[in-house]
Amino acid sequence: MASPMSAGSFLAALRAEGLTVVEVGDWEHHNRNHKGPWGPVNGVMIHHTVTKGSAQTVKICRDGYEDLPGPLCHGVITKDGKVHLVGYGRANHAGFGDDEVLRAVIAEKGLPLDNEANTDGNRHFYGFECENLGDGKDPWPKAQLEAIEKAAAALCRHHGWTERSVIGHLEWQPGKVDPRGFTMASMRGWIRDRLK
Ligand SMILES: [Zn+2]
Repeated sequence: MASPMSAGSFLAALRAEGLTVVEVGDWEHHNRNHKGPWGPVNGVMIHHTVTKGSAQTVKICRDGYEDLPGPLCHGVITKDGKVHLVGYGRANHAGFGDDEVLRAVIAEKGLPLDNEANTDGNRHFYGFECENLGDGKDPWPKAQLEAIEKAAAALCRHHGWTERSVIGHLEWQPGKVDPRGFTMASMRGWIRDRLK
């Protein structure tokens, strides 16, 4: 159980991990806190955007859609490996997921199959949206995969979490397939090595 980092510490932690961070507008105050709680935070969630083009991807993640207002995550990781901060606080990224998965993340144990959507994930997870079409063909450049690894590791390092606190949206909410194109098991392995 942990209080969310301040926006300033979040930014500093990402930079300390060696990431190139782009601050988009008034990201520190762009959130959905008026719609529900933010925290305690228990982990980090990785997504793909199903979008093409970095500028367009960042704009969508900041603004959201008519029926799903932004921010749609905290940081957007584009194919060049940059992290664009679009919001801070409660964000519309995780939706409802499985309470047993949340319990496993908190205990840092192996994940059960997500077969229920009964728990508010936007309260409990930091979220990174990663620019990719999510069709299994669109490549994931090395710079982008490394940035995902570093961003997740930075937050784990701050909170004293292991790589088991990092999950994919597909491991949280039944029916979700993101991220597609690499496995979360391999990503957690890279994060574990980085945290050593
Ligand atoms: Zn997602």
